[in-house]
Amino acid sequence: MNLQKMLINGEWVHAQSEETRDIINPYNQEVIATAVEGNEQDTRAAIQAAREAFDDGIWSALPANERGEYVYQIGLLIRRDLQELAELETWDTGKTLQESKEDMDDIANVFLYFGGLADKDGGDKIPSPMPDSESKVVREPVGVCGQITPWNYPLLQASWKIAPALAAGNTIIMKPSEITPLTTVKVFELIEEAGIPEGVANLVLGAGATAGAELSENRDIDLISFTGGIETGKTIMQAASHNVKKIALELGGKNPNIVFADADFTTAVDQALNAVFFHAGQVCSAGARLLVEESIHDEFVNALTERTKRIKLGNGFDDDTQSGPLISSEHRDKVEKYVDIGKQEGATLVTGGKRPDDPELQDGFFYLPTIFTNCTSDMRIVQEEVFGPVLTVETFQSQEDAIKLANDTIYGLAGAVWTQDVAKAEFVAERLRLGTVWINDFHPYFAQAPWGGYKQSGIGRELGREGMEEYTEVKHIYRNK
Ligand code: NAD
Repeated sequence: MNLQKMLINGEWVHAQSEETRDIINPYNQEVIATAVEGNEQDTRAAIQAAREAFDDGIWSALPANERGEYVYQIGLLIRRDLQELAELETWDTGKTLQESKEDMDDIANVFLYFGGLADKDGGDKIPSPMPDSESKVVREPVGVCGQITPWNYPLLQASWKIAPALAAGNTIIMKPSEITPLTTVKVFELIEEAGIPEGVANLVLGAGATAGAELSENRDIDLISFTGGIETGKTIMQAASHNVKKIALELGGKNPNIVFADADFTTAVDQALNAVFFHAGQVCSAGARLLVEESIHDEFVNALTERTKRIKLGNGFDDDTQSGPLISSEHRDKVEKYVDIGKQEGATLVTGGKRPDDPELQDGFFYLPTIFTNCTSDMRIVQEEVFGPVLTVETFQSQEDAIKLANDTIYGLAGAVWTQDVAKAEFVAERLRLGTVWINDFHPYFAQAPWGGYKQSGIGRELGREGMEEYTEVKHIYRNK
């Protein structure tokens, strides 16, 4: 796999920058590839290609069903190469191969969904209040879109941006996380194979402060779509304000998982575990705040702790591994710092709170699944996104209490309610200030349903019809007969 070149204007070209970066397998710190680090100049070349391709109309003026066919074809190619893509993702992120395969299946579906959606919005005729006139409202592509993705779900996050942007008729420049570019590079090879015209889909590899910053600042970019940390999101928002670019931001979360005493106990324990420790907690929608009804607190925490101690950490390629390592040594330092903060704040450490002793795990960035009880809303460990395998537990006595606690953060991405009382579940779900609420489940998402955050978890939506609308401008055409 060639990580020395970037796809600009339909050609794999060497960067003007001579910088490179080693891509590390977080399971054993082996160098798995060396990637070029494109700079501002490289990014500008990609922007120019995308600008010209958009202005020429080679893509935006194609009939929508033809664009859709190309996007659909990318989905089929991803399905064809699913195993290879999944293996690359596991090398790059340390997540289990099973998780990577599920991701790839979802990613293929994202392309199939948006490919199918491309020609479904024909615009609306609206009743004009003026005599002898006709009014219609149509959607058009926004233009040139810069897209920046994080390392935790490298290709999944990229697919949520690439597929709707192309289906809606935009041209794009994608910049994946510099830590995890492997699968995104591979998909750009598939985009080329699918025959997307030159200059429509461009790929830049590089760091956030250089390539990423150029995308957010450059005046030839009409929309910047970013998924990542909240502080980076604010920087991008500021840069984008200089020329009033449209922005779409998918930022962090500190997601509540609310368990009522009448929940199905075993499933709720199972899923509370999955909610927070899946992919070592490096999930924007991780259920990192468990809110459990006081009457079942001890029994629930005991069952959860016992299960947590049995989570098998290891190599993502081994069948019995349930959780892989954290992405990097710096990220593990951050998680450790938060665990120290939790202890200093007076939360009770019930399990974990350190690196594993297992000699086989010493070369990877592993950290034990960790649970804190006796947590309160004013603690930093409860309020701030750790983005690692750390669960905080709080208790509540009434549904009003639960709603208040759940909403008491700056974030509003996702969360869950566990109860067998449907009316109670709906009552609580309607009052949570979250972009997604699951009832008696955790984590399901799919291409058909919109995804995004309330409050400081972001701006705009990905997936679903709403995810496609982000990539369109609305035009009103009025005709005097
Ligand atoms: P990050 O913010 O450090 O980096 C994300 C991307 O931004 C990378 O490609 C990086 O190169 C780029 N970047 C960094 N500085 C930049 C700058 N100044 N200008 C432009 N681009 C810049 O995030 P991360 O550590 O890669 O990912 C973890 C974060 O992503 C977590 O906070 C997580 O919650 C969030 N996330 C959110 C969602 C969601 O759907 N809401 C999904 C996945 C991850």
